[in-house]
Amino acid sequence: MNLTDPSLFRQQCYIGGEWVDADSGVSIAVTNPATGETLGRVPRMGAAETRRAIEAANAALPAWRALTAKERAARLRKWYELLLAHQEDLAVLMTSEQGKPLAESRGEIAYAASFIEWFAEEGKRIYGDTIPAHAADKRIVVLKEPIGVCAAITPWNFPAAMITRKAGPALAAGCTMVIKPATQTPFSALALAVLAERAGIPRGVLSVVTGGAAEIGGELTANPIVRKLSFTGSTEIGIKLIEQCAATVKKTSMELGGNAPFIVFDDADLDAAVDGAMASKYRNAGQTCVCANRILVQDGVFDAFAAKLAAKVATLKVGNGLEHGVTTGPLIDERAVAKVEELLADATAQGAQVLTGGRRHALGGSFFEPTIVAGVTPAMRFAREEIFGPVAPLFRFATEAEAIALANDTEFGLAAYFYARDLGRVWRVSEALEYGIVGINTGLISTEVAPFGGMKSSGTGREGSKYGIEDYLEIKYLCMGI
Ligand code: ADP
Repeated sequence: MNLTDPSLFRQQCYIGGEWVDADSGVSIAVTNPATGETLGRVPRMGAAETRRAIEAANAALPAWRALTAKERAARLRKWYELLLAHQEDLAVLMTSEQGKPLAESRGEIAYAASFIEWFAEEGKRIYGDTIPAHAADKRIVVLKEPIGVCAAITPWNFPAAMITRKAGPALAAGCTMVIKPATQTPFSALALAVLAERAGIPRGVLSVVTGGAAEIGGELTANPIVRKLSFTGSTEIGIKLIEQCAATVKKTSMELGGNAPFIVFDDADLDAAVDGAMASKYRNAGQTCVCANRILVQDGVFDAFAAKLAAKVATLKVGNGLEHGVTTGPLIDERAVAKVEELLADATAQGAQVLTGGRRHALGGSFFEPTIVAGVTPAMRFAREEIFGPVAPLFRFATEAEAIALANDTEFGLAAYFYARDLGRVWRVSEALEYGIVGINTGLISTEVAPFGGMKSSGTGREGSKYGIEDYLEIKYLCMGI
């Protein structure tokens, strides 16, 4: 890796303001999914190191929460500025460990930084309340207080942004945090910790622990000092973590799996719908929890939409994300490719037709061809499972009611998209979709200023926006006799 500032590449964990190895001395190799090369190693930590990080976060809490919001904001602002100042290095690091094209990594660093900036400002606006009392000799005041020591467990698909949208509001609110990044992408997390240290975030306020997911997760969820867990990842692991948090009654925020419908109605602007589908489906090689997972197209425009989409997909360039012009990197690992192949085999065995792509890419490794498959039906696994790969399954529907029923026929409820121009339909469909996020005539919905999160099995809580900081606050009500 060619970094302007090589000190951003750290192979140790950051606990209580110290850079440390695992007690056991054992480390884990991190590989570049585009080349299979080992990039470096990170400590394989477990419960003991995690406990020390939690204790450091607890020790740092009183002084950090006692600062004014403006004082905390000044340090967070500095952290934000450092992310942007090192955007290029952080992007190279991210592409090397995650695989996404460099342009997307640059975009993610800007997006990641935006959460720190937003919440630094929002921290100043944590207003309490006064409530007209129920008795003449009483006064009621509501205070909003930081929850305390928080934990974050984050995934590999957005190695920086999934951290800052938890750490940003937590730190701005006056909480301290222990972060366990995904094992596949720890270097982005450790680089963020380097910059947090440089920004003057005090020791213990933010720690990053890498290693065994179950051991670290076990401690983060069992330790009574931790008052809140924020998790982004699969529904399966999310449920397990909620269960583990139950014994100590922790608050949890869960950003889990999705099964996003992307509906194209007869009255849609088809070119815009194709652009939206490209952005929503093929970004990050299809590995986002808000990627279009089921593309539902109305009869009258089905063939035209499929043809236009295929023409656009043909312009995608698969390769190493560090190379110029590459739009689609590798999938994160072999398991991800095998899953995509299984889903495709299931669909074609039941009569679906591959319009373009459909195979492992000639580059080998975990590269997969951008794919479109038509004739997909609710009986196929594509209807129920998150694909997490560059495959667009096209379903056909006849009526608005049928589209809504198909869209909602899933346990998930994170993001949904639709393209239509009729104003009545836009309202009807927006209200009928059981999703936390609805993109209308757009395929891009992520921004730090809006509340991101899901309904049903897609999770609880919201990240970003004025609502995002609430997840890190407790309400305390003072009842005063006068
Ligand atoms: P994905 O399928 O996207 O990798 P996971 O839910 O498996 O999603 O992983 C998301 C995060 O959860 C990662 O940081 C991973 O290491 C962590 N994780 C996986 N299993 C556990 C577990 N048993 N306890 C705590 N964290 C876990």
